[in-house]
Amino acid sequence: MQVIETVSGVRNLRGQIKNSVGFVPTMGYLHDGHLALVKRARAETDTVVVSIFVNPTQFDVGEDLVSYPRDLERDLEFLEREKTDIVFVPSNKEMYPSFSTWIDVEGITEKLEGLHRPGHFRGVATVVAKLFNIVQPGRAYFGQKDAQQVLVIKRMVSDLKMNLEIVVVPTVRESDGLAMSSRNVHLSHEERRAATVLFKALSLAEELWRGGEEDADEIRFQMTSLIAGISLASIGYISIANIGTLEEMKIITPPALVSLAVRIGKTRLIDNAILK
Ligand code: AMP
Repeated sequence: MQVIETVSGVRNLRGQIKNSVGFVPTMGYLHDGHLALVKRARAETDTVVVSIFVNPTQFDVGEDLVSYPRDLERDLEFLEREKTDIVFVPSNKEMYPSFSTWIDVEGITEKLEGLHRPGHFRGVATVVAKLFNIVQPGRAYFGQKDAQQVLVIKRMVSDLKMNLEIVVVPTVRESDGLAMSSRNVHLSHEERRAATVLFKALSLAEELWRGGEEDADEIRFQMTSLIAGISLASIGYISIANIGTLEEMKIITPPALVSLAVRIGKTRLIDNAILK
């Protein structure tokens, strides 16, 4: 496994690779969710490249950029075990030496996470485009956990005629349903228990839908009531939307994306499910 800190270093290596390249962009502090992406890339491509970069441009002022968890040594051990070939760990200066070009994906970024985190997807799309240009993968792997991010990246790839395939990997969960996330490390014991409410609310939505409930407002109402019963939880949004446009639905026509953001104490968590 080669650990590379510079763009020129990755470019040099990339130039020597003739077989297929699978790429997994991450912000590090790796868990089994990230590793599912790496395993999938390992199974489907010859050379696996993982990037670890806590991208400052996707954090708004007052968000958790400074406190975002980091442990490079541990991450590299995990990646070595998964037989990763190349790990790209650039500094902020390497990625943004002097910079004035941005990628704005319009429409879908104005909803959900985009509405609550202004500038977030502009930062995501821009850094992912830069990483694609540096690594030049044939396939890049993203988690369904960040459903809106998947939509934004797919749209960017399609609109800008980028020559690669986006592969989406299902959300990996803890045994009690909590979606794995680097941010879960911030949860106290009590908050960790409260955090299962996101999965419970999504499960309730799926149960109601399977039971014949088609009224999105009714499902949103029941999810809201469930979460309101947890004193440590405060709702950012609960959405039941068209899976392509993210337009909110009144009467559910499948497939619909149910997604939510909930603050547990100070930690903001997101999760989603698809009503089929
Ligand atoms: P992050 O380091 O949080 O930026 O995540 C890097 C990639 O891992 C993104 O494509 C995420 O969607 C994906 N990911 C994060 N958590 C999970 C999870 N629990 N299951 C599947 N993929 C995940």
